[in-house]
Formats: sequence, C-alpha cells, structure tokens
Amino acid sequence: MDTLRISQIQHSSFAEGPRCNTTVWLAGCSIRCPGCFNPELWNPDAGHPEGIQALLNSISEGIAKGDNGLALVGGEPFDQVAGLTALLTAFNDAFPEVPVTLYSGYSIETLLAVDENRTLLDLADVLVDGPFLLEREQEDLGYRGSRNQRVIDLVRSRASRYTELHLHNWDNLIAFLPDGSLAGAAPMLSMFAVDEAAECGLHMNPKEGV
Ligand code: SF4
Repeated sequence: MDTLRISQIQHSSFAEGPRCNTTVWLAGCSIRCPGCFNPELWNPDAGHPEGIQALLNSISEGIAKGDNGLALVGGEPFDQVAGLTALLTAFNDAFPEVPVTLYSGYSIETLLAVDENRTLLDLADVLVDGPFLLEREQEDLGYRGSRNQRVIDLVRSRASRYTELHLHNWDNLIAFLPDGSLAGAAPMLSMFAVDEAAECGLHMNPKEGV
C-alpha cells in the first residue's frame, strides 16, 4: 500500500496531546459513533489520496519547523492499517526520537486481535482508544471526548506485550500558549517533560504546581 486517503495535514497542532504535533487526518471511519465531531470523514471516499513519500515530506516540513510529535487521527486510522504501517515505518526511520500518537475508535483489546494492527501499534508511542460515547461525554477531558476513552502508554505496555496496560494521566494540568491563550489540557508529564513543552511554546499552568 503506497497511498493513504487523508483529509488534511496540520502543522503545530495542540489538540491531540501536550505537544506541537504535526497531525494527519485520515479519511473514512467504519465505526460511526453517534455524536461524532467529524461525520464528514466517515465516507471512505472523503478527502483525497496521498502518496506515502509525499506525506512523509509534508510531515518532515512540520518537524523541521519545530513540531515535536506526530498524531494520526480520523476518521479511523486503523481502517487504513497497511498504508499507515508503511508511513510510520518510514517516519520512525527518519525521526526515531519523535513520538507518535494514534487515535482509534476501537479498543486496544479489539485491535490486538488482528496481527496487522499489532504491527502498527508497535510503531507508535501513545494510543487514545475507544469509541466516542455520547452518554459518557465530558467537555473538560482535554484530548479525548468521552470518559471511556483511554490514553495508553504503548512504550511501557509493550514490555508485557500489552497484557498489562499503562495509562497516561490526562487530568488536572492546563497548557497555555505564549500569548496566554488556552492550548488544552496537558497532563501526560510522565512521558512529556515540562521543559519539552516549554520548548514548543507551551507553558504549564502555575496554579497546578508544575
Ligand atoms: S471512531 Fe472517531 S471518527 Fe469514527 S465515528 Fe467514532 S468519533 Fe467519529
């Protein structure tokens, strides 16, 4: 698979984790949660095809400008597992130190039942898993939409081949842009150090004692 169907690429995004992410929006989602914020991306023919090398070039531009993370959102990224595996294999070769965050409407338990999905999980650092559930929606969760969703530390969880899941804590911390505007909750400090956040222009809320 040498192409992915995408909606857009955004550089310097603060919406998918406490980092300056280059974020790729994949087109197509077979899960179709009621209340989804992106129903226009459900159609697998939405967006446009993009070659893996062209995508890598666009992502590299974001990293060169200072982004220090890559996020893959949707749509449902695992609906395009082969192309995404090719992209992340090339990305990790080029930028082994830059963490990758995957979002999926599937639970990790469901994903792990398929070998191809497991291969893709092995190429990432964080998984935000689970469908958006209207009845569990909560507005102040930061980087997830409903309480059932989990922020899974894939690096630590891989040590047990995912039999023991380690979660990042999403709660309590707030990040601000240099102009003082709110960038989003930024609690994953077990993985992302405060000085790294400062490097990309984020400042932790001093009221939280960080
Ligand atoms: S998995 Fe995500 S993109 Fe798909 S329907 Fe649910 S919330 Fe929307």
